[in-house]
Order: sequence, then structure tokens, then C-alpha cells
Amino acid sequence: MNFASHSMQSRLQGGYHTEKIQFHMTYCDLDFSNRIDNWLSLVAKSNVRELDLHFPYLENGPYYLPRSLFTSSAITRLKLFNCNLGTLDELELPNLRGLCLGKLYICLSHVWHLILCCPLIQDLRLIHCTGLNSLLISGLAKLDKLEVHCCPNLEFIKVDAPNLQKFWYHIERNKPGSCPFTLSLATCRSLKSIVLKNSWLTVEMLQALLDQCPLLDTLELSNCNSLKSVTILSKVLRHLVLRWCRKLHDAEINAPNLCSLKFEGKKMPSLSLLPSDLKEVKITLWKEVRNLLLGNDQDHLWCDNWRLFLGKINHLRGTKLVLRCEENVIIHEDLRHFLPPPIKNLDLEIVDSSRGFKDILERLLRTWHPKVVIVVSSPNSTLPKLAHGLLMERDDHLSCCRFISYENKCWRHFLENVKTLDIGLAADDGTSSWMSLLNKSSPTVLQKSTGFTLDWKLRTRTHKVDPLSESDQRLLIS
Ligand SMILES: [Zn+2]
Repeated sequence: MNFASHSMQSRLQGGYHTEKIQFHMTYCDLDFSNRIDNWLSLVAKSNVRELDLHFPYLENGPYYLPRSLFTSSAITRLKLFNCNLGTLDELELPNLRGLCLGKLYICLSHVWHLILCCPLIQDLRLIHCTGLNSLLISGLAKLDKLEVHCCPNLEFIKVDAPNLQKFWYHIERNKPGSCPFTLSLATCRSLKSIVLKNSWLTVEMLQALLDQCPLLDTLELSNCNSLKSVTILSKVLRHLVLRWCRKLHDAEINAPNLCSLKFEGKKMPSLSLLPSDLKEVKITLWKEVRNLLLGNDQDHLWCDNWRLFLGKINHLRGTKLVLRCEENVIIHEDLRHFLPPPIKNLDLEIVDSSRGFKDILERLLRTWHPKVVIVVSSPNSTLPKLAHGLLMERDDHLSCCRFISYENKCWRHFLENVKTLDIGLAADDGTSSWMSLLNKSSPTVLQKSTGFTLDWKLRTRTHKVDPLSESDQRLLIS
């Protein structure tokens, strides 16, 4: 502590140019505040532009920031965590562009002072802040991004910011005081992206948001559990994410320019999707705690929804479909004859034709280390040959990733052994886990499939560093 504050003080007094100071304290002694007061006062007089201060929890209350800190004309970005702002009476940060306040008390009068005295704020973030029941923001003409994360008791948000482009609102889970809430973004006509998590959102509120934001390009709804059905009518929406909205049973999406759709949850809702410019679809279905295979009628409903949804998008030419369930990966070259298996705990991804097959396969190998890879290809396709080349014709002496730490090396360093899989033989045997992922009702699907089994080394290091190879030794000696 002494060393840190001395070196900071001498650097600031020495007139060195310091652009940014990050100060994260995890421990402090009794008289730390005088020393920090001193160098923070020097910061206020210096030309430091970015300041990031994190203080530890103190039993007798958070550290009071010196008033002088709030009178710097040089500071453009300020991050303050776990401290006391004081009254902000003498606030004057005329060039502040970015402000992030975390784990501290802030009241409406603080917000007014900030709006009045920091007119250039573009990026404002409040994280785990207490003291606000309502948040009213108006008069920040430059405000471009507003994020509010887990501020308990906040029930009302009204933002009047003509240039706001991104709004992020995240309520802490299981905080009864957090909902319901009122959100008014009526005057934020430039909004392009809205992300809402755990929000108590009604269909009417969602509709109002969509109506208020004619330029909305990205909408992300996570854990919005009060939503049972949604209707999204938009000519400009391009990216839609529906994640863990547990009660959602139907979604009508009429967005002709939608190019990416992500869905994650336990059950596929009925997704009515009018033809759009979709290039990327990602669906992640998680299994129920009890059973992997489906048993009751209600479960068949989501399965039908899934089939209907895929039926609507299978006209997309040139796209590939990637199915991953546990350690199995199946890549379909042609979506038209694909039938989704009635299994959960899987990822399904539809990839645009602009992404090359090699790219897709390399990403899957890197991320998942799958034990089985199957390619279901069209007649005269080059994909089986490409997969064979990538997996089987590897160079034993890898020259890549030499200066990268073991865990971060590419997939080739972990792949121990690859064998081709006799699909027909394994299908007759009927015990393989990947069988349930293939459409067995199609007699040709097995004929069109090329498979590989892969053995991997552990990704985390369990052995000592490899001894230097001969070429490395030569390099060192020379
Ligand atoms: Zn490598």
C-alpha cells in the first residue's frame, strides 16, 4: 500500500504523462485514506484522462472520495467501485465522456448533479447501485449507451436521450423488490439495441418499446418470464435473441430483414416466422432434469413446433446445419431432408453459405473436442474429402502455436487419434449415442454419412512441460 501510493505520488509530482490509472485495492490499513486523498488530489490537477478505482469493503463504511477529484477538466473516463461519492456539490467534470458507478450509493440528486455538470457523457453504467427508486435521465444530448445492472428497488426508468443507441437493463434474479417496473424510452428515437434480462415485461410494454424505437436493429430478451407470447412486427430488426423466457409459448415474428435468430431454453415455442433474410440461426435446447428422451404429449408439442420452424427456413440454399449433442457433432449439407431428433440438450446451428465448411469444422473441433463427427452430404459433394483431409491427413510434427501456452494451443495439439467410422456397422449394432441424432426414417441418410471417431488428450495440463524438441534446442544454441 505504501509502495503503491508513494510511486503514484512521485509519478504525478514528477510531471510524467499518465493517460490511465487503474487502482484496485483488496486490503487497506487504518490510515490509508489520507494517503489516497493526497494522490487523488494530485490526479485532479494532472492530465490523467482515465481513472478506475476499486475499493474493498470496509466495516465502518465506504471510503469518501475527496471533493477535489470531481473538479478535473482532464478526466474523460471514470470508474468508481465501492466508495462514497459525497454530495457532489462541487462537481465539475466538463470533459467526462464515460462514467461507470458500481456497488455504491447514489440518489436522484447525484444523478441531477451528474447530468448538469457533465454534459458530454456518452456512456453511463450503473452496476449494483443502491439508493434509486426511479431513474430519470434527461438533458444528456450526447448519451449513446446506458446500462443499468442489478440496482435493487429501481421501479421506474425514464430516459429522454435523442441520441441513445444502446440500452441495457438487467435485474438481479429473485429480487422481489425489483419488479414490476416501468420503462419509458419514448423520446429515444435513435435506439438501435435493447437488451433486457430478468425484466418483468408485459406484451404491451414490449409492443410500446418496439413502437417507440423505429430504428431498433437488435433485441435481446433473457429470462423475461412474464412473457407468454410475443408479436414482433418490424421492418428494421436484424438480430433477435430469446433466451430462457420460460413461459413463452408462441412468438410471431414478422421481420423481413431479420438476419440472425438465437433461441435458448427448454422448450421450443411456436415460432411463426415470415420469410426473412435469415443467415444465422442458433437454437440451444436443454434437457429436463429427469429425462433425455421425451415421454408425454406436451413434450411432443415443442417437437412439432421445432419441425414446423425448420420447415419454414429450410428453403435457405447453401446453408449448412450443425447439430451437437454432448460429444457428437453432425453436419448436414442439405437442410431439406433434415428432421430434428426428439432429443434435448443439444445445439442446433444453421450457418450461412458464406462460412466455409473447413471454418465450421475447425471451430467445432476447437470448441468442443467432439468424439464423433459425422458429415451427411449431398451427392458428388466435396465435404467428406475435406473432412478426411482435415482430420486424417495431419502432419505429426506440428509447427503451429509454438509460443502459445498449452491450454490455448489449437485443436491439433490435443487430437490423439482419429479413425473412420463404419456407419452401417455401427447402425446395425444400434448402441451408439449418435444414432438418435440421425433421421433413421430416411433410408439414404446412412449412405450419405461419413463418420470419424476422435480421441483427445485432456485440455488442462496434467503433465510437465514438454522437453524441448530438437529444433527448439538448436534455436537456443544458435
Ligand atoms: Zn497449433
